[in-house]
Amino acid sequence: MARKRLVVGNWKSYIESPSEAHALALALRRKARALPGVEVWLAPPYPLLPAVAEVLESSPIKVGAQALSASPGGKHTGEVSANMLKQVGAQFALVGHSERRAQGEGDEQVRAQLLQALQAKLTAVLCVGEHERLQDGSHFSFIERQLVVALDALPPKAKVIVAYEPVWAIGKSAEEAMQPQDLEQMAIFIRKTLVETLDRSAGLKIPILYGGSVESANTHALLIGGGVNGFLVGHASVEAEPFLEIIKACK
Ligand code: PEP
Repeated sequence: MARKRLVVGNWKSYIESPSEAHALALALRRKARALPGVEVWLAPPYPLLPAVAEVLESSPIKVGAQALSASPGGKHTGEVSANMLKQVGAQFALVGHSERRAQGEGDEQVRAQLLQALQAKLTAVLCVGEHERLQDGSHFSFIERQLVVALDALPPKAKVIVAYEPVWAIGKSAEEAMQPQDLEQMAIFIRKTLVETLDRSAGLKIPILYGGSVESANTHALLIGGGVNGFLVGHASVEAEPFLEIIKACK
């Protein structure tokens, strides 16, 4: 059976008020049923997550977190544990987003976060991405290391999704995003690395998403030419209409 396409909206800190979050979740809930064949997940900021999860209860849209602690609950001021997230309605968590790595989170910490997510039965959306594309191709080994450190020796049934997000392409416009042929090359490389790092059938099953300036203008070309299973969308996910256009283009 063909794998359903997946579109994950990362609201980052763009949405700051409960009323805005409520209105956006409601608008998406109303339209989501008309878009079969595409799974939609949303990652609101922590304080807004429980309210968004409530609006989307009994809707096919899943809610998750943008980050999580590398430790279980305990004496960790300001941290948000996987178990807390699970109990307020999260079903997945992003781990290793480049905007978190830029705050100093390293590969080992990302692995610890991923393991925390899995033990709480949250799907881990592992974000990887190079800062620049280098002539000598060393950005491939950079991505390989991020994948291998995070995923080495995981059980074959671990619920993981890989989001490839080249840092240089994030937060720009469709014109500056990655080109489909370059994405396809990287998607093949990521698939090969997954198969070599995990059990072969697990490596073949893990969905690969692309993130980095996905807008309605480039969605179709990236999907068809890029060889990915869906998208992680930042700025174009925080208003209903542009986000719905992207979802429709994935049908
Ligand atoms: C992101 O940072 O996860 C992202 C995909 O952002 P944008 O779509 O704004 O490039």
